[in-house]
Amino acid sequence: CGVFGVVGVSDAANFVALGLHALQHRGQEAGGIVSHHPESGFASARRFGYVRDNFTKASLMETLPGSLSIGHVRYSTAGSKGQTQIRDVQPFFGEFSMGGAAIAHNGNITNADELRRELIERGSIFQSSSDSECIIHLMARSLQRNIPERMKDALRRVEGAFSVVAMTRTKLIGVRDPLGVRPLVLGKVGDGWVLSSETCALDIIGADYEREIEPGEMVVITQENGVESFHPFERKKSRFCIFEHVYFSRPDSILGGQSVYETRRQIGVELARESAVEADLVCPVPDSGTPAAIGFSHESGIPYGMGIIRNQYMGRTFIEPTEQIRNMGVRLKLNVNRALIRDKRVILVDDSVVRGTTSMKIKDMILDAGAKEVHFRIASPPTAWPCFYGVDTPEREKLLASHMSEDEMRDHLGVDSLRFISLNGLYRAVGEKDGRNAKSPQYCDACFSGEYPVAPRDMIANGFEV
Ligand code: 5GP
Ligand code: SF4
Ligand code: MG
Repeated sequence: CGVFGVVGVSDAANFVALGLHALQHRGQEAGGIVSHHPESGFASARRFGYVRDNFTKASLMETLPGSLSIGHVRYSTAGSKGQTQIRDVQPFFGEFSMGGAAIAHNGNITNADELRRELIERGSIFQSSSDSECIIHLMARSLQRNIPERMKDALRRVEGAFSVVAMTRTKLIGVRDPLGVRPLVLGKVGDGWVLSSETCALDIIGADYEREIEPGEMVVITQENGVESFHPFERKKSRFCIFEHVYFSRPDSILGGQSVYETRRQIGVELARESAVEADLVCPVPDSGTPAAIGFSHESGIPYGMGIIRNQYMGRTFIEPTEQIRNMGVRLKLNVNRALIRDKRVILVDDSVVRGTTSMKIKDMILDAGAKEVHFRIASPPTAWPCFYGVDTPEREKLLASHMSEDEMRDHLGVDSLRFISLNGLYRAVGEKDGRNAKSPQYCDACFSGEYPVAPRDMIANGFEV
C-alpha cells in the first residue's frame, strides 16, 4: 500500500490526490482521502479503482476542504479474506473523547488475529475485515489524554510492519515500526509538511525531500511547532524490506539515500557477473525488469532490446486479485516484438518468479516468435517464502521455489537456462560491499531466506511452519 499526508497548505486534499497518484504502483485496488477543515470538521471519501479516475473530479475534491489531509492507496495483502468491501478501504476513522483521528497504514500486522479476538471479547465493534482497524480500537482503549500518546500505546501492542500516516484536527502524525520494514519519508512544501511512502510522490507536488522517518520513530507535525520527534519503542537494528529495492518502489524514488533505479541496474550487473551466458539479445520483462536488463546488457556487452512490449494501459499483473484474472493478465499486458526476437538467443531479465505464471507465458510467446534459445535471469533470489509484512505473496505451496530447485524450475518452465541472483549478490547491489551479514542481516529478506525478523504469530497459530 501507499500512504501520504500533508499539513499546512490550502486544499491539502488536492496535494494528497497527486501524491497518491504517484504512489499508485503500491496499490491499485482502491484509494481514500480524509481532510479536516476547522469549520466543517472531518471529511472523507473512499473509492475503488485508480486515483486518477476518482480524486480528480472537482465535485468530489470540493467535499474535502482544509489544510490538513491524509490518504491511502490499497492492495490486499496476505491474510486478507475474500473480496474487499468499501468499508475495508482506508483511512480509518475513530472518534475519541478528545476528538477524531484518521489513520492510514502500509504494512501488515502479524498479531492482528490475536488482537482482534481480544478486542472483540472486550467489546470493540469492528467495521471492516482489515487488520489495520485494530490500531483504532487499541487507541480507543488507551487511557492517555491525547491522540499521539494513544497511538503510542496502541502501536506498542502491534507486531509486524507498519508505516502509518495519521491526522487529528491539528496534527499530522507519521510512525514507522521498530524495524522500519516499510518506507516513510518526510518532505517540505512551502510552509507545509509532507509524509509519503516514497520520494517520487514528493517530486510530483514539488516538495523538497527532508529525510526518512527513522525505524521506530514517531513524528508529530503541526503548523505552529513544526516536526516533533519521539521514539516510543525499544530500539532495534533496522530491517528494511530488501524487496522494495528490487520491485516494489518506483525506480525514480530514493531509498536509504540510494537511487532505486541505480540499485536495480547494479543488480543486473551482479547477475551478469554471476551467471553469464552467450546470447544475442538482452530483453527486460517490462517494466519491472528494465533497469536490471540495462545493467546486465552493459556488463555483458550483449545488446539491449525491447523484445517484449507492454501495453501501458494495464495495471501491475500481480495486484489483480484472482488467479483467473492474473492468468489472463499476462496476455492482455505483454506482447512479443517478433521482428526483433526471430532467430535470436534471448536473455530475459525479470524481477522475480513467484508462481511462475508470468515466466511460463513469456517463454511460450518468445518461442512462438521464433527465438532460438531462451535464458531467464532473475533480479531477486528464488521467492521460497511468503511475505507477512505487506507484500502480496501467495501461500507457500504456490511459490514455485518452495518446492523446486533452480534446475527443476528451469525444466518446469522449459527454458534453456534459468538463474537467480544470489542473496549476497543482491546485498552487494544495494550497497553492502561484503554482502549479507548472516549473523545479523542488514535487511528483511524473509521471502528469500525464510528468516522472519518478526515471528508471523497469526500464521504460526494457523499451522504455518517457519
Ligand atoms: P508469477 O507470474 O511468477 O506468479 O509472478 C511474477 C511476476 O509478478 C513478476 O514479473 C513480478 O513483476 C510480479 N511480482 C513481483 N513481486 C511480486 C510479489 O511479491 N508477489 C507476486 N504475486 N507477484 C509479484
Ligand atoms: Fe520485503 Fe520479502 Fe521481507 Fe516481505 S518478506 S518485507 S517482501 S523482504
Ligand atoms: Mg513483472
